[in-house]
Amino acid sequence: MLVVQKFGGSSVRDAERVMNVARLVTETYKKGNDVVVVVSAQGDTTDDLIAKAKELNARASKREMDMLMAAGEQISIALLAMAIDSLGCPAISLLGWQAGFETNSTYSAARIKRVNPERIRAELDKRRIVIVAGFQGLNKYDDVTTLGRGGSDTSAVAIAASMHADLCQIYTDVEGVYTADPRKIPGARKLEEITYDEMLEMATSGAQVLNNRSVEMAKKYNVELEVLSSLKWVPGTKVKEVTQVEKMMIKGVAKDDDVARVSIVALPDNPGIAFKVFSRVAKAHICVDNILQSVGRDGTKDIAFTVPAKDAEDAVESLREYCEAKGAASLDYDTNVAKISVIGAGMETHEGVAADMFAALAAANINIQMISSSEIRVSVLVDKKDADKAVEAVHRQFFGE
Ligand code: ADP
Ligand code: ASP
Ligand code: MG
Repeated sequence: MLVVQKFGGSSVRDAERVMNVARLVTETYKKGNDVVVVVSAQGDTTDDLIAKAKELNARASKREMDMLMAAGEQISIALLAMAIDSLGCPAISLLGWQAGFETNSTYSAARIKRVNPERIRAELDKRRIVIVAGFQGLNKYDDVTTLGRGGSDTSAVAIAASMHADLCQIYTDVEGVYTADPRKIPGARKLEEITYDEMLEMATSGAQVLNNRSVEMAKKYNVELEVLSSLKWVPGTKVKEVTQVEKMMIKGVAKDDDVARVSIVALPDNPGIAFKVFSRVAKAHICVDNILQSVGRDGTKDIAFTVPAKDAEDAVESLREYCEAKGAASLDYDTNVAKISVIGAGMETHEGVAADMFAALAAANINIQMISSSEIRVSVLVDKKDADKAVEAVHRQFFGE
């Protein structure tokens, strides 16, 4: 069997944890499997590197940020190779480009265009354990790129897809995917299975246990994922096309407090205004989520929408000239908000999920600022200070204590 195993930052935090991973990997190898390992930077290394950059230049170029951030994974792959070697198994570490990762040129949020697994294959043929630096690739200018935060998950799925691996295991610091963040909600339950679509909505709604692009890619190439703990060797959660075990209406509750609400007050109430607003935001490559447009009154209307917090300033900048030209009364953003979502394919056939969610929030005296939904998700925007209380209340509503 060809097995891809990915280990996140906390799983390789220090020497002891690296050795733990080395043991886990060699165990898989000794069973006769071909093993490709993808690792992230140790512990908080990526955050620390970003902080170092900010000390020198708050607006450092994304190219240089990628050069800097990619260093974190280079450290982990070498250390893990050394640890595995100390256990008597042959291992070789490869940077993203050596492992054949070709990306586009969007620095800090690069998309994988292709993985050419020739080198990985050649090393596996020599019966080596191959250790690949997650999160990084190379663009057409031969510059190092990174895939965006949490991107190592995507590196693992990309290798599994391009090499038709038999198994893609995402090892982390919790035992699987839960009905809510188990570190925040003690009553959260581990799911045996979850569909790609549900997991994608969970990940996009703030459950960082899997990066959303990795789920998107797993679905596209039909790579079955297993999320499990690197510390406690028990069955985790399977992420796949269809699930059978748990016929639950709701699979989970997620919180995203990395969002901002952009508000425009008093734009002319004419046809084409929303188009002009959102095409400008799209041109700045910013993803918009919840949208609220007020009913026109006295010839004007208000528009509010949410964007990732890091994009708030750029979103406002992209609209400033237009809003001034149209005589809008104000244009600003607020990062004091959080998005709470409930996710589950079962809600497609069960009415009343939104009502139950709103009831729980009302009982907890939490005000809803905006609402959005998809077929399998309902999200609300609330004040940031209410976010944890809101997750707790909504989780209790659907899963009990
Ligand atoms: P890694 O370093 O292994 O990539 P991450 O920190 O990116 O790990 O993701 C794991 C974390 O995701 C967990 O520690 C947990 O706090 C958080 N998390 C948020 N929502 C969920 C959820 N629904 N199920 C499991 N973990 C979750
Ligand atoms: N080290 C990178 C990050 O912290 C990639 C990853 O962990 O997946 O975002
Ligand atoms: Mg992660």
